[in-house]
Amino acid sequence: THFGYKTVAAADKVSLVANVFHSVAAKYDTMNDVMSLGIHRLWKRFTIDCSGVRPGQHVLDLAGGTGDIAALFSRRVGPTGKVVLADINESMLNVGRDKLRDLGLINNIEFVQANAEALPFADNSFDIISIGFGLRNVTDKAAALKSMFRVLKPGGRLLVLEFSKPEQQWLSKVYDMYSFKLLPVMGQLIANDKESYQYLAESIRMHPDQETLKAMMADAGFAEVSYHNLTGGIVALHRGYKF
Ligand code: SAM
Repeated sequence: THFGYKTVAAADKVSLVANVFHSVAAKYDTMNDVMSLGIHRLWKRFTIDCSGVRPGQHVLDLAGGTGDIAALFSRRVGPTGKVVLADINESMLNVGRDKLRDLGLINNIEFVQANAEALPFADNSFDIISIGFGLRNVTDKAAALKSMFRVLKPGGRLLVLEFSKPEQQWLSKVYDMYSFKLLPVMGQLIANDKESYQYLAESIRMHPDQETLKAMMADAGFAEVSYHNLTGGIVALHRGYKF
């Protein structure tokens, strides 16, 4: 698999990603707040607002991790709806399950350990699928997008929230400094784990930009794919429909 800057064998990437998220799980929420200055909460809220979610709907939050996005959806689909939080990593799922239970969100949420590349759900199961800061960790992104398309109901929509390419060059420079210099140091200080945050910076740098991801979604079958840049393009929200 080619990632632009270096070549990593697929099997190596899978175990690398697994180790990263096992080791960051306990500190994941704290690090998110510190590293993004709390702005990730706004990105996630924007995602829900763009989803058009309604009471009673079935939502899949893929690579759901510690459950921020699933929690927001849970409140919106209400007691007649359902949210499935799926993630490949048991440690992240455990942190998410405990957190959502503490928030009192238990009646309409299910937790499933699953790989985005081969989703264990029937065709046409969900009204909405979200994947937040997850796609860049997936080895075979084309397979994952196809799998999402398959389990989405006709008329359903996919929302991909992910790091992307800053629109302005100066922002890109500042952001590179931040992610390659400061982020690993912060990872070391707060989570005693420099390597995981180095991986994070590299995975952000290698992730497809706005137009590339848009084309990948169209290739997987999604229609009317569009995106919205957030925080100057540091993050983008892509949306596509299954018709
Ligand atoms: N969505 C959460 C959020 O926005 O806070 C968690 C994002 S976290 C950066 C990325 C998550 O993707 C991790 O929990 C990781 O275990 C999960 N992940 C990585 N590869 C995956 C795959 N192939 N299938 C499903 N989940 C995966």
